[in-house]
Amino acid sequence: MDARNKEPKIVIIGCGIGGAATAVALQNEGINAEIYEQASAITEVGAGIGMRPPTINFFKKWGIYEDIERKSSLSNFMEILLGNGDVLVKENWPLLTNGDEEGGWARLIHRADLIDILLSHIPPELIHLKHRCDSIITHENYAEVHFENGKSIEADLVIAADGIRSLVRSNFFSKVDPVYSGTHAYRAILDEKDSFGLFEDNTFKVFIDGDVNVYVMPLHHRNQISFDVTVPSEKVAWRPDIDKTAMLSYLKNFDSKIQAIAANIENYTCRAVYDIEPVESWNSNCVTLLGDSAHAMLHHQGQGANMAIQDGGVLAESLSDSKTIPEALKKYYARRKPVTDKYQELSRQQHNQEATTAFPEKEAFEQK
Ligand SMILES: Cc1cc2nc3c(=O)[nH]c(=O)nc-3n(C[C@H](O)[C@H](O)[C@H](O)COP(=O)(O)OP(=O)(O)OC[C@H]3O[C@@H](n4cnc5c(N)ncnc54)[C@H](O)[C@@H]3O)c2cc1C
Repeated sequence: MDARNKEPKIVIIGCGIGGAATAVALQNEGINAEIYEQASAITEVGAGIGMRPPTINFFKKWGIYEDIERKSSLSNFMEILLGNGDVLVKENWPLLTNGDEEGGWARLIHRADLIDILLSHIPPELIHLKHRCDSIITHENYAEVHFENGKSIEADLVIAADGIRSLVRSNFFSKVDPVYSGTHAYRAILDEKDSFGLFEDNTFKVFIDGDVNVYVMPLHHRNQISFDVTVPSEKVAWRPDIDKTAMLSYLKNFDSKIQAIAANIENYTCRAVYDIEPVESWNSNCVTLLGDSAHAMLHHQGQGANMAIQDGGVLAESLSDSKTIPEALKKYYARRKPVTDKYQELSRQQHNQEATTAFPEKEAFEQK
């Protein structure tokens, strides 16, 4: 690949799941990238993620699947249930990819374990904490990146994995603000022994009552479950200072065991849920968006982190297969934009009583 230097200098802004996965993907292609993260430590909220077959295929390619397998549980089914526990839909996880005979499952992982595994495959000297990017100046074929701490660097390519409130997106690609979904998500991890025997199999369950959704993801390898409750709220603050009384009041039609689990939770996070409208352009010659900065989506299809990881895989492959960085960015955008547009659209569909499938994405992406 031609760049100003023989070895292109690649900088990733943000060390969330997207930034970290991209660094691992690039390394697998023999490309070192430096990551600059604003936080003083890399932490993840207590919650689970269902990793889907196309994501797992990248982990296999990058040589990290054994680590992932050790720290995750297999799930064969997803169910949508009424709040009282009556099952509306029970389905095998879809394959969504070619030629993987082991499909029909997802692997359920704690977010903190996922980020730890990714970080364990990145040389620590490539990760720079306490570096908040505050401006980027682009030139024809390189960018200057400036940080709040006074440091500046130059790069042939800046990969902005800086999340839903991306500074890079708003400086270069879209001034449009994130869109509030009108809901709050409460998320907690609890011990299986405190779940009244409700979640002993490996099925991922979504309980619904109108616009209230309770997501229960078994993390059997940890003897824990991930318990997320989405309820309506008009409070738009990103991290609302709120206790769980409002959430509990929405669960009155739910099975008494679910109400009891929610009432007993002590450690939880509460976030206002936002997404963004599709961004038409992600790339300049030397800057690109990735993950939530490019296409933040609501959590109803459980795809945001999956998309960020797959972005990293496709970007690394595109850089490896191209003669120039602009050519690689074009390929990356062409492969990822249609997929992420579709998931952004589907993710606005909250699971509801009329659901005939747990996986609306099957129609668009299941290989025939
Ligand atoms: C309630 C809920 C449930 C979800 N469940 C799922 C699920 O089951 N499955 C799934 O696939 N996805 C799920 N998601 C989506 C998923 O969490 C996100 O899509 C994913 O974490 C995005 O990763 P990212 O790396 O793009 O962004 P982020 O995780 O937001 O990381 C961005 C990083 O950039 C850093 N940063 C920001 N600005 C700067 C700056 N100026 N300079 C330096 N660093 C900066 C931040 O500190 C952060 O570390 C869920 C989301 C929510 C809200």
